[in-house]
Amino acid sequence: LEQIDALSVKSFPLCMRQLHKALRDNHHLRHGGRMQYGLFLKGIGLTLEQALEFWKKEFVKGKVDADKFDKGYAYSIRHSYGKEGKRTDYTPYSCMKIIMSNPPSQGDYHGCPFRHCVPELLRQKLQSYKVPPSGITQILELVKGMHYQLACQKYFEFVHDVEDIGFSLNHPNRYFTESQRLLS
Ligand code: SF4
Repeated sequence: LEQIDALSVKSFPLCMRQLHKALRDNHHLRHGGRMQYGLFLKGIGLTLEQALEFWKKEFVKGKVDADKFDKGYAYSIRHSYGKEGKRTDYTPYSCMKIIMSNPPSQGDYHGCPFRHCVPELLRQKLQSYKVPPSGITQILELVKGMHYQLACQKYFEFVHDVEDIGFSLNHPNRYFTESQRLLS
């Protein structure tokens, strides 16, 4: 869990950083968030056993006890790893899917912050993540033009201090692997 805390700051795209923070703060995520974040974590290499441990550890700190977790939540985690139901091995969501479908409502933390956050909130978030003012202006301009993935790409460039990432960002897991590659 501590390792994921560190990774979320260094190498997670904004959408996943937001989900991780909400999970740590509230010890809970609603269904949309669990799906988006859970599949991302699966994509970065969390095994089913690690995923069960990860979610349980956090949920039991909140209103869900171990028994309720095992009965209510473990099934859907096993399901997303293809171990229940139709045994479909679900793949992590792409940016397009996150941006275009299932918009978050009140109390949800899933979605794409560049698409679903109100600009003022996004500005504050970027400020708190140490994006320089000129970067924030550029990112908000892209958001205004509805270029959400380009805004995310700019965010990547500022966070990693690179001029041009040289590929077009279309998947949160790609963001993660490129970040890890740069930092290694
Ligand atoms: Fe996440 Fe993609 Fe949005 Fe970036 S553009 S925050 S990776 S959904």
